[in-house]
Parts: sequence; structure tokens; C-alpha cells
Amino acid sequence: MSALDVSIQAQIINLFEQLQDEFELTYLFIAHDLAVVRHISDRIAVMYLGWIVEVSPAAELYENPLHPYTISLLSAVPIPDPVVEKQRESILLAGDLPSPANPPPACRFHTRCPFVQPTRCRDEIPPLRQLATGHEVACHWAEDIREGRLTPHERAPVFEPGPQEPAEEPPPV
Ligand code: SF4
Repeated sequence: MSALDVSIQAQIINLFEQLQDEFELTYLFIAHDLAVVRHISDRIAVMYLGWIVEVSPAAELYENPLHPYTISLLSAVPIPDPVVEKQRESILLAGDLPSPANPPPACRFHTRCPFVQPTRCRDEIPPLRQLATGHEVACHWAEDIREGRLTPHERAPVFEPGPQEPAEEPPPV
């Protein structure tokens, strides 16, 4: 879809919606374009390095993101109002995306998370848990972030490759 011209994208999305109304279809729609995702989705699952980190009804997710990765993603979406856009604070993520073949241990987002804490983030896998009706998040500190007790902080990029598997011996020749 991302390789298509914007007007063709719009035509295809309209076609999806017509077919959905006509045949009462359910779609699993995988995309990076947050505006398209918002337009087409009833329920959204956000993934980072192969794990679902947040699941929510669409409107709730855009109004009230809870996982630091979702918060960072949505903070980068431009707002079509010059006054509001000027005041918008975007959260830039440190470092590069680690390899999904060898992800960081515990919370996979901890090497880039602007809310990372000295405890739990690097030691315990955060389970996906429900905080409010229909809104689930995999972050140890989601309540503190939601209540404003934790705020994003500057951090240097860190890369922790995780446990290394020994390379296999080549077969004898
Ligand atoms: S568990 Fe820690 S590192 Fe992971 S998203 Fe939450 S605050 Fe960030």
C-alpha cells in the first residue's frame, strides 16, 4: 500500500470499506501509515520487534496512548493546525532498531525507551495487561506514565544485543 500514489491508496481504502459494508467483513490491516490506520481501524495492536506492546480501540489509542513506543510514534504525527503544530513536542527515539533476530532481553524497547527506569525494564518481561476497559499495555510503568509521575528523559543510544547463540560448526567436507 505504501508504494501507491496517495489518490490510489484512497480509492483502495474506499473499496475496502464498501466491501466491508456489503459482505460484513473483518480485516486484519497491517500498516505503518498512522493516518490510514486511524481511518480504517476499529481496534489497533501496536507491535515493536515482533511483540504486541499495546492493544486498544482506535479512538482511545490516539487520545490516550499508554506504551512509551506508542507515545513516541504518535508524538511524531504532524497536526494540520500551525498554532498547535508549533507547540507540539515530539519525542525522538535514541539509537537504531535492534535486530529482531537477536532482540534485547526483558522489555525489548528498553534500549530506546525515553521512560526507561533503573529497575524492572532490563530484568523482567512486561506482560500485556489490561489497565482500562479494552486497553491493554505491556509496560511495567504504564500507570505512572499515564498519571504523569514519569516523564520522558534524554538518553544516549544503547545497544544490548542480548544472549549470543554459538555459531554452528560447518559440516565436514
Ligand atoms: S517497561 Fe520500561 S523500557 Fe519497557 S516500555 Fe515500559 S518504561 Fe519503557
